[in-house]
Amino acid sequence: MAEILERFLRYAKINTRSDEEVTDRTPSTEVQWNLARLLEGELRDLGLKEIELNEQCFLTATLPANTSKDLPVIAFLAHMDTSPDFNGENVNPQIVENYDGGEIPLKGKEGLVLSPKLFPDLLNYKGKTLVTTDGTSLLGADDKAGIAAIMDALAYMVSHPEFEHGTVKVAFTPDEETSYGIEHFDVEKFSADLAYTVDGGREGEMEYENFNAARAVVTAHGKSVHPGDAKNVMVNAMLVFFEFNNLLPVEQRPQYTEGREGFYHLMKMSEGSVEVVEGVYLLRDHDADKFERKIRMIEDAVAFMNQKYSEGTITLKLERQYRNMREMLEPVFHVVEIAQQAMRELGIIPISNPIRGGTDGARLSYKGLPTPNLFNGGHNFHGPYEYLVVETMQNASKVILKIIELYTKK
Ligand SMILES: [Zn+2]
Repeated sequence: MAEILERFLRYAKINTRSDEEVTDRTPSTEVQWNLARLLEGELRDLGLKEIELNEQCFLTATLPANTSKDLPVIAFLAHMDTSPDFNGENVNPQIVENYDGGEIPLKGKEGLVLSPKLFPDLLNYKGKTLVTTDGTSLLGADDKAGIAAIMDALAYMVSHPEFEHGTVKVAFTPDEETSYGIEHFDVEKFSADLAYTVDGGREGEMEYENFNAARAVVTAHGKSVHPGDAKNVMVNAMLVFFEFNNLLPVEQRPQYTEGREGFYHLMKMSEGSVEVVEGVYLLRDHDADKFERKIRMIEDAVAFMNQKYSEGTITLKLERQYRNMREMLEPVFHVVEIAQQAMRELGIIPISNPIRGGTDGARLSYKGLPTPNLFNGGHNFHGPYEYLVVETMQNASKVILKIIELYTKK
């Protein structure tokens, strides 16, 4: 069995499910330490330097340069936790060698199959080696395939001292799926010049654009009196809220948008009363100007409603969440171009779609560490249909090495 596959299976079998309900501590779950400690030992066995597993479960290490050339410090990151959305315990992977393009029974659940009818992508992988779940858990290729690819590349460099490289850093991080982890990462101390997360899916995938994001809490305040005596007195908060919502552009809702089209998403509402009701909106747009216009539209709608009724009828709390990393990558675009060149030299066609969400890399880019995202070979993340293409994971490792190599020639 390929070494990288053994590696992946070793990591996948360790439950590292995170918990989005736990927001006051990192890691959100104790189980993440189990993988962190295993990896810490493996990094030590590889002879890496400056290995540190800190009190919040961030594992970092350095492979010192073996050249005197003045090269940028390149880092690779992957997250150790798996999604809170689905069971991560007793992961029992099935290995399908030389996949024939047919249905793959997920043997832990009677009648459950991974079928190309539902997931036509599978047909691209005839003849390849796939790893699937047994239907009772997720696989955790998100992001243990990323960890395996990074570790495989490190092992290669350690056993091939003739492979010239600058300083390479790695970080394995907790709580990506809850999105609370990376906030605690000490970017300054890590002191890399550029970085890549290895957390994408299909071969060639390379992400460097994501949404600008804000969250708006809109509260409508009413005046409750007995309905029999309501004339000219009652203000019904719920109806005011509906009216406010109708001022927002209907076509800019998630269900009507794709690609680079942004949206207003009414994500949840409190149980309403005549007295008060609260709605939470997510505002998203890749384009910075359009994003600002979305914010202004909400503010203007609030102002209009307050003018129509009375000041304070609607209150708004708006919080900016993250920004499109492209803005931060633009001045150092070689970080994207070198990765694309690395893929092309390996015969892989780079595919870049704007992410309709955020990533750890987006947050890191904003903290000053430019961090686009590379593929790891996984598909159908976060559920029982998750699967991994082993050859693609191996190629992710090759892309990592090629990026490092190209930077020595830059
Ligand atoms: Zn992930």
